[in-house]
Amino acid sequence: MSDEARRLEAAKFAVVEASTVCRAVQRELERVRSITKDDKSPVTVADFASQAVVARALVEQLGTVTLVAEEDSAELRRQVAAGDSSVLDEIVRAVHLVWPDATPDEVLEMIDVGAGEPASDTMHGFWTLDPIDGTKGFLRGQQYAVSLAWIEAGTPVLGVLGCPNLSRDFSAPLDQADEHGTLYYAAASEGVCEMVCDDPEAEASKLMRLTSAEGEGIRMCESVEAAHTSHSIAGQILEKLGEPAEPARLDSQAKYAVVARGQADLYLRLPTPGKPYIEKIWDHAAGAAIASEAGCAVSDIFGETLDFSHGRGLEKNKGVVVGPPELHGKAIGAIRELGIGRE
Ligand code: AMP
Ligand code: MG
Repeated sequence: MSDEARRLEAAKFAVVEASTVCRAVQRELERVRSITKDDKSPVTVADFASQAVVARALVEQLGTVTLVAEEDSAELRRQVAAGDSSVLDEIVRAVHLVWPDATPDEVLEMIDVGAGEPASDTMHGFWTLDPIDGTKGFLRGQQYAVSLAWIEAGTPVLGVLGCPNLSRDFSAPLDQADEHGTLYYAAASEGVCEMVCDDPEAEASKLMRLTSAEGEGIRMCESVEAAHTSHSIAGQILEKLGEPAEPARLDSQAKYAVVARGQADLYLRLPTPGKPYIEKIWDHAAGAAIASEAGCAVSDIFGETLDFSHGRGLEKNKGVVVGPPELHGKAIGAIRELGIGRE
C-alpha cells in the first residue's frame, strides 16, 4: 500500500471511531451535565475523547505522527491535580467505547499527541484535527463535524469529514440529527466518496455533485452563529447575485459538504467589519479538500487560495467563499464591487 493509501485508511478509521464516541456522548448530554455540574461539559468531554481516539488510531496505524489539533490536556491535568477528575473520568468512559482498556494516563498522553507543530517547510506533511467542529451545534443536538486533514506544502491534500448528524437525504431537515450521519473523504485527484458515519466497514460511493434546478434561486449556507460570519453582508452579496433563496444555517464544516454535494450553491463566511479574525487551519482543511475535490472553487473573500502554510492560522486569508466555479467567480466579483473586506 502507498503512503497516501495508508494515510487515507487510517484517517477514515480514526474519524469513524471518533464519530461513534461523539454520538454516544451526545445521547447522554443530561447525564454528563449532571455529573460534571457544567452545561458545556458534554462538548468538552466529547472534544477530548474524540482527539484521544483519533490520535491513538493514527499512532497505531502510522507510527509517529505530527498532529496539530485544537485541544491540549493542560486544563484537564490541572483539574486532576486539584482533586477533581470528574471530567477526565467521563472522557475515559467515552473513549472506552472504542478503546476498552484505555487508562486515564494513556488518554491524556494521546490528547497531547495533538500538540504537534505545523511543518513550515514544504518537505514535510502534517495532520490537522478539529475533534469537534461546531461545538455550539453539538450542544444544540444539531450539526457538528469531526474534521481531519493531511496538509502538504500548504495544501490539504487529504480530508476526512465525519458529520454524525448529517443525513444523506437532502429532504431531511439540516437542523435535525440523522440516525447514521454521513462521512466524506477526499484524496488528491481521486474525487470525493461518501459513506455512513457509524461503520468503518461500510461501502463508500463516489459523490456525484447535483446542480440546482433552474429558477430555484441561489441557495447559500452560512454559520448559525452571527459572531462567526456576517449574515447581513451575506444578504447584500446575494441580492447582487440575483434571486436569493432562504439561506440554510448550520454549524461546522458540514457546510463544505453541503456545497460539495450540491445541496447548497454557496458557502459564505464573512468577517464582520471592525472585528478581524484569523481562521484556524483545522476549521477549514478537511472541508476545503472535500469541496475542491468535488469541483468547487474554495478561496477567501478576495478570491485568494486558502494558504495552510502559515502555522495554526490562515494568516494570509480573510473569510471563506465556496461554490461551483462560475457562481464563485460572481460572488467574488460582487464582494469586490461592494468593497467588502477593504475597510
Ligand atoms: P461555524 O460552526 O461554521 O460557525 O464555525 C465554528 C468555528 O468558528 C469554531 O471552531 C471557531 O474556531 C470558529 N470561530 C470562533 N470565532 C470566530 C470568529 N469571530 N469568526 C469566524 N470563526 C470563528
Ligand atoms: Mg472548529
